[in-house]
Amino acid sequence: MDCARRAEYLRAIGIDLWVPKAPPTGTAGNLTAAAAVSAPPADAAGAWEALRAEVLQCTRCALHAGRTQGVFGVGNPRSEWMVIGEAPGAEEDRRGEPFVGRAGQLLDAMLRAIGLSRAENVYIANILKSRPPNNRDPRPEEVAACLPYLRRQIEIVRPRLLLAVGRIAAQNLLGTEESLSRLRGRVHRFGELNTPLVVTYHPAYLLRSPADKRKAWEDLKFARNVFRQLTTGVL
Ligand code: URA
Repeated sequence: MDCARRAEYLRAIGIDLWVPKAPPTGTAGNLTAAAAVSAPPADAAGAWEALRAEVLQCTRCALHAGRTQGVFGVGNPRSEWMVIGEAPGAEEDRRGEPFVGRAGQLLDAMLRAIGLSRAENVYIANILKSRPPNNRDPRPEEVAACLPYLRRQIEIVRPRLLLAVGRIAAQNLLGTEESLSRLRGRVHRFGELNTPLVVTYHPAYLLRSPADKRKAWEDLKFARNVFRQLTTGVL
């Protein structure tokens, strides 16, 4: 991505003073090409579709009774990046896709700033696949019922890097009550595959607290550097 477009994306997420010195090299651009040429192996594609069908019919927790539909995820399942949010909101419940409201638009702008797009090279999913009423926080029993689906998604996608957006996603993935500010700026690991995981703010929080967008940009640059280190074998 050239500097002018990056500046445009940074302005879109509310950061217009800081522009990185050098455009990113090789990472997301290569991802796009890789995503465009690689088709999923038949067994992975079958497993993915079976999992989607299971999620859409799921009645493991009480949330199924109040949802319009389950929200499985969106993006390229062959991606090297996976973004994990909390749970569908009203708009996501209606449309069956994660992050489609105002927070979703900001998330897309944040991802574009590091060369990622749900249409090409990132997969986006939530901890919960059904909307909690009035957007309340997920309950432990709901997370316990739903997290196995996300684990399976991660096993099939096998991303190089997970980006957890927001305290709820980060704490539930990492099994901790540490604050978001303490979880930022570190490389954590998730699951059986020990997938590297980086934490940043939830875009809905950033809409309420725009002063922290600058810190979110630091997190995104950190995640991009971690990704580069992963692809070059340094990490
Ligand atoms: N917030 C989330 O965490 N996920 C969504 O899909 C929408 C809003």
